[in-house]
Amino acid sequence: MSRPTERVDVLLAELRRRGQRITTGRRAIAEVLVGADNLSAEEIVAAVQDDHPDLAASTVYRTLETLEEAGLIEHVHLGHGPARWQLANKPFHHLVCEGCGMVQLVPRSLFDELRARVVLEFGFEIAFQHFATVGRCAHCRD
Ligand SMILES: [Zn+2]
Ligand SMILES: [Zn+2]
Repeated sequence: MSRPTERVDVLLAELRRRGQRITTGRRAIAEVLVGADNLSAEEIVAAVQDDHPDLAASTVYRTLETLEEAGLIEHVHLGHGPARWQLANKPFHHLVCEGCGMVQLVPRSLFDELRARVVLEFGFEIAFQHFATVGRCAHCRD
């Protein structure tokens, strides 16, 4: 795993390659997301405004959409709460416990066989990165 600053630079370089300008807001959001598994838009606004109090929440929301359209970040639904944002193409899937709310990261590759089979038999491609799988953790099953 590369260092956080390198990962921010890679993300911003990709944004520039797509003809987008590197603004203070875009850099700040990239830094916040590189340092976390996933964050709600509200948490991102709070973290970004720590360093850049002048950055409006609406700018942050717009920037999240721009970064998502560029394929650099994606949002995931972990449960009933607001969507959570993360860097795109992380090799993880989220398991969420209905009992205690615990979130566990598992390799996305666990679902490769299932994904391929559903495509083959039903022509449907499951977007495992878009939603968590809900169930009960080891503790709550006891
Ligand atoms: Zn649980
Ligand atoms: Zn969604």
